[in-house]
Amino acid sequence: MTNTDHFDVAVIGAGVIGLAVAQRLSAAPFMADRNLVLLDQEDGVGQHTSSRNSEVIHAGIYYPSGSLKAALCVRGRQLLFEHCQRYRVPCRRTGKLIVASERDSDSLLALQQQAANNGVDDLELLDSGALRRREAQVQADIALFSPSSGIVDSHAFMVSLLHLAQQQGAIFAPRTRVQGICRKVEGFEVTTRLKSSSGIGDEDYRFTTTAIVCCAGLQGPALAKRIEGLDPQLIPQQFLCKGDYFSYSGKSPFQHLIYPLPEANTAGLGIHATLDLAGRLRFGPDTQYVDSEDYTVDPHKRQRFAEAIRRYFPMLDPLALQPDYAGIRPKLAGAGEPATDFIIQDTTEAGFPNLVQLFGIESPGLTASLAIGERVTAMVRNFF
Ligand SMILES: Cc1cc2nc3c(=O)[nH]c(=O)nc-3n(C[C@H](O)[C@H](O)[C@H](O)COP(=O)(O)OP(=O)(O)OC[C@H]3O[C@@H](n4cnc5c(N)ncnc54)[C@H](O)[C@@H]3O)c2cc1C
Repeated sequence: MTNTDHFDVAVIGAGVIGLAVAQRLSAAPFMADRNLVLLDQEDGVGQHTSSRNSEVIHAGIYYPSGSLKAALCVRGRQLLFEHCQRYRVPCRRTGKLIVASERDSDSLLALQQQAANNGVDDLELLDSGALRRREAQVQADIALFSPSSGIVDSHAFMVSLLHLAQQQGAIFAPRTRVQGICRKVEGFEVTTRLKSSSGIGDEDYRFTTTAIVCCAGLQGPALAKRIEGLDPQLIPQQFLCKGDYFSYSGKSPFQHLIYPLPEANTAGLGIHATLDLAGRLRFGPDTQYVDSEDYTVDPHKRQRFAEAIRRYFPMLDPLALQPDYAGIRPKLAGAGEPATDFIIQDTTEAGFPNLVQLFGIESPGLTASLAIGERVTAMVRNFF
């Protein structure tokens, strides 16, 4: 790249969302004679939240009907399974069990209804006998079985998106941190800091672009504040909600993903059991609002994790739990506040054309990524 470059579209952030946006955009017919650059401050793709999650392909059960989360999860799940099959990205339809006690059966049935309203109509209600036949070690009175939930190798998925986008003409610029964005007569001027691979001799690089899509994850609001002239009212307040994981040493006693019924007004889905494609079991994530990005897992949480897990897996030996990794959710609601939806914002009507910003892309962002890519592509098409 030279200091006189002009791009038609710049996508900022190469987590799974920026990658899916770049892949979908670069495949769109209106982009055939246009160029796209995908920038990330890191050396490679998906170094932040996209590699710190459960890698679960969600069915779309929990989210309020009519929300972006519900619509994009259901559509994204279908696109993701198709993508994995077509491009040989490892994934598996493990199925998922949401388990509950008899006294919570009304809440479980309400969840089944919520899922049906979202178009997820394949849930099966199991009694304790049917549950035990599927998972001998799980103890609960009733359960919902979701056959269309699964797991994906998120890294392989991201690499496949990058390769496709590049084959379709997108340019990937790693080690390129966006420092500021200025509006020009047509489009924007973007100032970046290029990190040299040796770590010394960083340099500034400026380019112009007609349109920008910001997919900066946790940095979304901070980046938006660096867009000159953007109305601060368009930038939502963001909260950091950390989720720790503990791995389980030894062979997994489960074949399915096991989830408790989510408690009302919690910021997560409850400490659940997920498997990776190698069959390893881990538990988490919990929810803890934090002030800064610190990914240390507190080993003292073992007992609290064990208590939560024993409600559905009484045979658990707490010593089999080892602190593993953590992720941080970009929440748009504070502790105890009602959950909020994704924000996918075209700022044209606010007098700031050619900009799309994404905020609060927490779970089910991985599942929804390709559907988010489709939606953003439809928005960007209107800019040309
Ligand atoms: C604990 C946890 C569990 C989850 N589990 C699941 C799950 O099982 N299933 C599911 O569907 N979803 C899950 N999610 C949600 C999913 O992980 C996220 O929705 C998704 O990874 C968000 O991707 P992103 O691209 O928006 O963000 P990120 O992956 O954080 O990417 C943002 C990118 O922007 C770059 N960037 C930021 N600022 C700049 C700048 N100024 N210049 C250049 N680059 C910049 C960063 O380097 C980064 O690469 C989970 C999330 C968490 C936290």
